[in-house]
Formats: sequence, structure tokens, C-alpha cells
Amino acid sequence: MKVISDIREMQAASRAAKSQGLTIGFVPTMGALHEGHVSLVRRAREAASLVVVSIFVNPLQFGPSEDFNQYPRTLEADCARLEAEGVGIVFAPTPAQMYPAAATTVVHVEGLSDKLDGRSRPGHFRGVSTVVAKLFHIVQPDFAVFGQKDAAQVAVLRRMVRDLNMDVELIVADIVREADGLALSSRNAYLTPEQRRQALVLNRALEQVKALAASGESSTDRLRAAALAVLATEPAAKLDYFELVDPDTLDPVADLAAHGALAAVAAWFGPTRLIDNLLLAPR
Ligand code: AMP
Repeated sequence: MKVISDIREMQAASRAAKSQGLTIGFVPTMGALHEGHVSLVRRAREAASLVVVSIFVNPLQFGPSEDFNQYPRTLEADCARLEAEGVGIVFAPTPAQMYPAAATTVVHVEGLSDKLDGRSRPGHFRGVSTVVAKLFHIVQPDFAVFGQKDAAQVAVLRRMVRDLNMDVELIVADIVREADGLALSSRNAYLTPEQRRQALVLNRALEQVKALAASGESSTDRLRAAALAVLATEPAAKLDYFELVDPDTLDPVADLAAHGALAAVAAWFGPTRLIDNLLLAPR
């Protein structure tokens, strides 16, 4: 496994791989890897002959009062894990390489970027779409794998790829959870044992919605009310949003009947903001 930090070296490695007839499966990450990331790597390996994983804590997607500085950085352990998974190249550039002082070009997916997490994290999705567009230009992947965990990010990036005719196929991998239902996240490392227990309410609320939908409830008002009732049982959880939206447009939907919906939740546990979601099929 090669670890590359230089952008031109990464571009040359991708060019060389393609000239040898290899296909490239790409997994962008911010490191502090867990089994969720590993599941993406495995999907990339199924799809392509060479897997490239980027590890880059992207300053552009963090707000001024967010956790950019304290975000966990565990490059050595990450590389050991990726090598064991058969990854060919880790691309780990520095912020100065990715954003030279004079850089002024951004990619902004209008409309979608202001919904769900974009509403509570202004500028977040602009940072995500800009860095992913840059990474696609550097890595030149045939396939790129993202987690359903970040459902709004998936909507933004799908739209970007479509609107800008990017020649890459997006693969979306299911959410990986702990045995007790908590969705894996690098930010779970911030939680105290008490907050970790409180955070289980996110999955409980989604499970309640799933059970009600399975029993025939299709009104999103009623599904949302049921989820809010579950969330209220954990007063320490400070709700950011619970919404039932169209997974492509992120606009609210009134009923599951036509297209189903994405049930998405975000809440604070102390200083830590966690997200989770569930896709509901049409009824
Ligand atoms: P991050 O390092 O947090 O930027 O995440 C990198 C990729 O891993 C994103 O596509 C995430 O959606 C995905 N990911 C994060 N957590 C999970 C999880 N629990 N299950 C599946 N994918 C995940």
C-alpha cells in the first residue's frame, strides 16, 4: 500500500493505474476510521481493481465554532487498517496542498446545500462538494463509495455529479451500527458513557417510525409526531431536526404512499452533534 500526500503524485498514480487497465474505486474519508468506513472500502473492492482511500480533515466543511481542531486524527492506525483491507493507495494531503492561499473556486450545489444539516451548518455542504470535486479530479475514480449515514451529503453529491457531468459512478453503502443500534461515527469518540447511552434515542426514534410505517401508517405528520415523542423521553438530547423528506430533493413529503421518504434526525448530546437516518419504502 502506498501513502501519497502530493497531489501530482496521486494524479500520476491514477493515470498509471488506468493505463494498465485497472479501474479505480475511491472512498473519501476524514480518517479516524471505524467499521463503517471499512464497509465502504469493501464495497469499493467489489466494484474496482484498485482501491484509493483519501484521509483529509477538510477545513472548508467545518464552521468557525465547530470541531476542526479537535477532530480525531489517527493516520497510523488508519493506514494499518486499510492495508489489511487490501487498499492500494491512501491519499492524505495537507490543507495547504488542497487549498493554496490564492484558491477562490468553489462548487456549490444550490438549494440542496441549505437543507437538513446544511441549514444548521451553513457552508458545510459547499465545503463537502468542493473537496469531493477536487478529490475526483485528483483521483479520477470510476466508482466512489459514500455512506447512507450522511444521507443529505449523498443527495448533494449525486446532484453535483449529475449537474457537472462527472464521469464517476456513486455507490451508497448501508449504515453500519453498533450492536445496540448506535450508528458508528468518528464523533462517537467524544461521548461520555452517559451521553453514549442517551444517543441511543436516535435509533429508537427511527425504529419507532419504521415499525409504524410497517404497520400501515403513511402520514408523515403522524410518523414525525411519534418520533418526537420518543426523542422527548431523553431530555438531555437537544434536537436539531427530525424530518421526513424526499431523499433526492430533501424537501418535506406529506405521505409515504408515492415515493417513500428519508427519515433523518440530528441532535446534540453535550457538545457533540450526531446524525442518523432511515429510508422508508413507498407504501
Ligand atoms: P467521514 O470520515 O465521517 O467523512 O465519513 C467518510 C464516509 O464514511 C462517508 O461517506 C460517510 O457517510 C461514511 N460513514 C460514516 N459513518 C458510517 C457508518 N456508520 N456506516 C456507513 N458509512 C459511514
